[in-house]
Amino acid sequence: MDCLFCQIAAGSIPSKKLYEDEQILAFYDIEPKTPVHFLVIPKTHIASVSEITAENSAVVAHIFEVIAQLAKKLDLKNGYRVVSNCGKDAGQTVPHLHFHVLAGRELYPDMA
Ligand code: AMP
Ligand code: ZN
Repeated sequence: MDCLFCQIAAGSIPSKKLYEDEQILAFYDIEPKTPVHFLVIPKTHIASVSEITAENSAVVAHIFEVIAQLAKKLDLKNGYRVVSNCGKDAGQTVPHLHFHVLAGRELYPDMA
């Protein structure tokens, strides 16, 4: 298993966990781009948004439900951005589906 986020999901590489259940894991980004920056991943390997199908998309809905809960728990009342980079031009560096949650400063009008 050479996928970094599969290893983080399995616990063989440590992470600063924010939320975990049997399907997904949320953990803080190692190189935060904003004062609050965490990632949410499915525990099963899906390479990117391009690999989401009718068969595996239930976990994506679950990820968004948990993001909404975490935003309340972390009191992100000024707002936040959810981003998933897909492929080379978007700058995806880890080929395991992940959603960035960025908050804690004004993000508009940046798109990165
Ligand atoms: P992307 O560029 O969209 O593929 O995002 C990958 C993200 O993973 C980047 O923001 C990295 O800072 C983050 N990252 C890489 N390795 C780790 C790690 N070991 N723990 C937490 N975040 C990581
Ligand atoms: Zn993986």
